[in-house]
Amino acid sequence: MPTSSHLLTDTLVTTLDTALAHVEKRPLPLHEPWFCGNEVKYTTDCIETGWVSSVGSYVDRFSIDLAKATGFEYAIPTVNGTAALHLGLKLLGIGGHKQEVLVPALTFVATANAIAYTGATPHFVDSDTTTLGVDADALRNYLLEISEQQDGQCINKATQKQIKALVVVHIFGHPADLDALKAVCTEFNIILVEDIAESLGSTYKSKHTGHAGELAALSFNGNKIITTGGGGAILTNNAELAQKAKHLSTTAKVPHPYAFKHDQVGYNYRMPNLNAALGCAQLENLIFFINKKRQLAKHYQQQFSSTPIQFIHEPKETQSNYWLCAIRLPSITLEERNQAIEACHQKGFLVRPAWNLLNQLPMFDHCPSMPLPQAQQLAIELINLPSSAFLAL
Ligand SMILES: *Cc1c(COP(=O)(O)O)cnc(C)c1O
Repeated sequence: MPTSSHLLTDTLVTTLDTALAHVEKRPLPLHEPWFCGNEVKYTTDCIETGWVSSVGSYVDRFSIDLAKATGFEYAIPTVNGTAALHLGLKLLGIGGHKQEVLVPALTFVATANAIAYTGATPHFVDSDTTTLGVDADALRNYLLEISEQQDGQCINKATQKQIKALVVVHIFGHPADLDALKAVCTEFNIILVEDIAESLGSTYKSKHTGHAGELAALSFNGNKIITTGGGGAILTNNAELAQKAKHLSTTAKVPHPYAFKHDQVGYNYRMPNLNAALGCAQLENLIFFINKKRQLAKHYQQQFSSTPIQFIHEPKETQSNYWLCAIRLPSITLEERNQAIEACHQKGFLVRPAWNLLNQLPMFDHCPSMPLPQAQQLAIELINLPSSAFLAL
């Protein structure tokens, strides 16, 4: 008699076989970029004109196109998403050893790394099993218990540090419950920041993700929905923040025809023109990619609907870009989950588990954390499926 986990594994492999029968490629990677537009034309233009580096027209154009695509007043392109988040946090006055920043335990390590760069301590919070984002109710109850207000600041009673901010992440492109999270932040005097690295094009109540907080950070790494090779951006509607972001990301250089005047310790975080050229071409196809991904998600959802495997669909009142399609294997153990992944890999489907919880990594295992029952369950049960846009039928 096969155990139920064997049945789940068999069901997963068989369903993937059927769902992806129209694609010949094996092994089939989790996610690949798609260059089907003006990528070669624009990058060649950079090389032929010599404008490949920190100055050039594509950076300005990418900045304008990106702001338009996301509904922000300003977009400041950066070298990667981690740098965008780091600089964004600094601009909001976040940092130093007397501060903690709330962050989901279930996210990519870069979110917590950016917090650590500022000198603040990551403080891990639980995820909601429906949205995969931070669980607002659980967070509120936790803060009621462990924090107190002192002079308009939210203080962790155990550490006596200020809980300065919450970084929300829209996992795999699915928007978190922003209204509820915003309400918690307002109630406890906490700054809301959005890591929208995975949710370019995803909307919450018809608004692009990123608009609930003070600012948002994007990534254009090779595996994201659009790529600049490596890259990121800070998005904001605040003119002063935008100006500071641009200044600090370009070594804090004061504009001058020849003199090297820098008015503070700045960063070399500005996106090079060559990467921005690639980004301009990719951005022209963003809507096309999102439509393809939503088609693929619908296809997977139909294929899994007759199985005990749960396909993760977009939360209510949101539209997800379905950057990475995900399923949950109910009540599976870690060993069984790993066996299921290995069975998929043997068949050439390079599926992947969700991340290890960040509070279990050696550099963060001493950091404060709320109980994480849902994140723990998700970290074991979630599996990402091959999600490249060109897999759509
Ligand atoms: C990709 C990603 C980042 C960081 O992006 P890089 O461009 O690789 O630095 C940050 N947060 C999340 C949630 C991501 O998925």
